[in-house]
Amino acid sequence: MIEFKLTPAQKQMKDLTHWFAANEMRPISMLSDKLGKVPDEWLDKVNKMGITLAAGGGMGGSGSGSGSSGAKKDDADVDPEVKRQTNRTTVIAAEEVGWGDPAIALTLPGPGLGGPPVQGSGTPEQKQRFLSIFTKDKPRWGAYALTEPEAGSDVSNIRTTAQKVDGGYVINGQKIFITNGGRASWVVVFATVDRSAGRAGHRAFVVEQGTPGFRCSRLAHKMGMRASETAELVFEDCFVPDENLLGGEEYYAKRAEGKSGFQVAMATFDNTRPVVAAMATGIAQAAYDYTLDFVRKEYPKSGRLYQLACEKLADMEQTIQAGRLLTWEAAWKADIGQPNSKEAAMCKAYAGKNALEVCETCLELLGPAGIDGHIVEKLYRDVKVYDIFEGTNQVQHLIVARRLYDAFELRI
Ligand SMILES: Cc1cc2nc3c(=O)[nH]c(=O)nc-3n(C[C@H](O)[C@H](O)[C@H](O)COP(=O)(O)OP(=O)(O)OC[C@H]3O[C@@H](n4cnc5c(N)ncnc54)[C@H](O)[C@@H]3O)c2cc1C
Repeated sequence: MIEFKLTPAQKQMKDLTHWFAANEMRPISMLSDKLGKVPDEWLDKVNKMGITLAAGGGMGGSGSGSGSSGAKKDDADVDPEVKRQTNRTTVIAAEEVGWGDPAIALTLPGPGLGGPPVQGSGTPEQKQRFLSIFTKDKPRWGAYALTEPEAGSDVSNIRTTAQKVDGGYVINGQKIFITNGGRASWVVVFATVDRSAGRAGHRAFVVEQGTPGFRCSRLAHKMGMRASETAELVFEDCFVPDENLLGGEEYYAKRAEGKSGFQVAMATFDNTRPVVAAMATGIAQAAYDYTLDFVRKEYPKSGRLYQLACEKLADMEQTIQAGRLLTWEAAWKADIGQPNSKEAAMCKAYAGKNALEVCETCLELLGPAGIDGHIVEKLYRDVKVYDIFEGTNQVQHLIVARRLYDAFELRI
């Protein structure tokens, strides 16, 4: 059964990550929001410290995938218990960096969302080539480019094409809303080799920065998550060699129903939705911690107003913990190798929406004290996207409903 108590190694990692969030992220939080970017010197510093954004979005180590400790470590150094509980450890760390600053968290150097597809579907040579670049000498990023103007929730509708030519593929199309897409050393790009084949025509390519025909055309100006880079990418007759097709053509030929490109994209989400949910819980916790302290210090200690505040605080405490436990369950299922699509969708839907409501309630409780460049006001702006990216709330509900139908059909 799921274990609620952290192992000593997880506890140590949680404390270390919390220390980092409080002492390294928070001091540059409001400045980065104002600048619309995380200062380069800070990124250099944390990269030298060995702090990276692991594949899947947690804070992590080796750059080899889903490590979850705060510092770069050789595989042999990693506690075996932490390794066995990689997903659980990752969500624990992700919550802490979400608490620190969610926009800075997404800007920590590392493969980010691009990591899971390379780790999960890449050949040994591709893993070595693309994941070994995340070293302490210089901050580097990976990115994941699925969304297009006509393909957001409905990812099966992607229109970016990959035409087979001698020695490789020629990619044409546009991607939008790509986190770290402008600064990434490489981007996992989803394209179709045959639109009429639907999902079976999807392929995932690694396109490296500097490849002719590939450029970042624009960085988005956003309401929240301002310090996190969100890029528009353009591919114009962009040639990528066969070696950059993730998994190689045999990988796709082998798979049942030839659906694999789509599955590469979707498999990423089963690992990363719990991480996004954990970060949303971290944001809710941050707003709540501040507000609890404020109410304790500033509210009268009796009367209807105090009672109302206590009720709201108790309710938030409860829902934050519920989101955390749903997330832990999804991560635990991934750790023990069980299908977790339903749990990953449930925790993402619940924690994202709940974090939005918690931030709103906190702002109400703070009243005039929460305006004008206040951290809780910033969290309220930042948190909205946790209800959108990696699948909107409505889409998560569709996934859950589909799983329920499947289970029902199996029962009858
Ligand atoms: C800050 C930010 C960072 C992002 N980073 C990345 C990234 O790194 N890589 C990447 O590939 N993408 C990224 N995205 C894109 C994100 O995943 C999409 O925005 C998201 O999937 C929703 O797609 P859309 O914006 O096109 O909305 P749409 O799909 O157009 O949806 C609009 C509305 O319709 C609803 N809707 C759509 N279909 C249905 C349905 N069948 N039933 C019920 N309701 C439905 C949605 O829930 C939503 O409310 C990012 C987005 C943002 C804002």
